[in-house]
Amino acid sequence: MNHDYKHARERMIKTQLIPKGIKDKLVLEAMSKVHRHLFLEEALAGEAYNDHPVPIGHKQTISQPYIVALMTQILKLTGKEKTLEIGTGSGYQTAILAELSLKVYTIERIRPLMEKARYLLNSLDYTNILFKYYDGTLGWQEYAPYNAIIVTAGAPQIPEKLVEQLAEGGRMVIPVGGKTNQDLIEVIRLKTGYKTVRHGGCRFVDLIGAHGWKE
Ligand code: SAM
Repeated sequence: MNHDYKHARERMIKTQLIPKGIKDKLVLEAMSKVHRHLFLEEALAGEAYNDHPVPIGHKQTISQPYIVALMTQILKLTGKEKTLEIGTGSGYQTAILAELSLKVYTIERIRPLMEKARYLLNSLDYTNILFKYYDGTLGWQEYAPYNAIIVTAGAPQIPEKLVEQLAEGGRMVIPVGGKTNQDLIEVIRLKTGYKTVRHGGCRFVDLIGAHGWKE
C-alpha cells in the first residue's frame, strides 16, 4: 500500500481542482506538494484527497481541497506576502499559505487544535509561521498591515477590524452569510474604503467571536 498518497494527490488535482477552474500554477504546485493526509487522524487519512470536508475534532473540519485551492487562488499570492489566517484548524491551509507567502500569521480559538497544528507544522520544517491562540475576528494588530487575509470560518458580516488590518491593494477572502450557507467574498482594500467581489456559494463552520457569531 502506498502511504505517500502521491497518486491520490495527482488525482485530486486532475479531477477536482483543474476541472473546476483552479489554474494558478503556484497553487496547484503547493497542493501537489503538501501531504494533506498528515493533517488528519490516522483512521481518516484515506479520506484526505476526497472531494469533501473531513472532521478534525472539536466539531471542526478540514475544508474540501477545492475550497482551499479556490480561496488561495483568490488571494493571488506570489511568495512575498505577509498573510494573516483566521482559523488554523488542522493547519493544512496554513501549510499551503506558508508555501506561497513570505510569512504567515495564523490565529485559532480552540487551543488544542492550535497546539496540534503548531507541532505538526514545526515537525514539517515550516519556519515562516507564527501562531496565536486568540479571537481572530479582532485580527492581529501587532504585525498589521497584511497583504492577504483569509478567514476559514463563516461570518455574519465582514469584520471591520480585519479590513482595517489589510494593506492598501491587499486582498481578503471570507465566507459571509447565514449559519448554513455563505457567499465566498473577496475584499480588495482601496485607498479609501474597499470593494467586494462575490465568488459563489459555500458552507463553513461558524466564525465565533466579538465580530462573528456568538458562542
Ligand atoms: N483551514 C483549516 C484547515 O485547513 O484545517 C480549517 C478551518 S475550520 C473550517 C475553521 C476553524 O476556524 C476552526 O478550527 C475554528 O475553531 C476556527 N475559528 C472559528 N472562529 C474563530 C475565531 N474567532 N478566531 C480564530 N479561529 C476561529
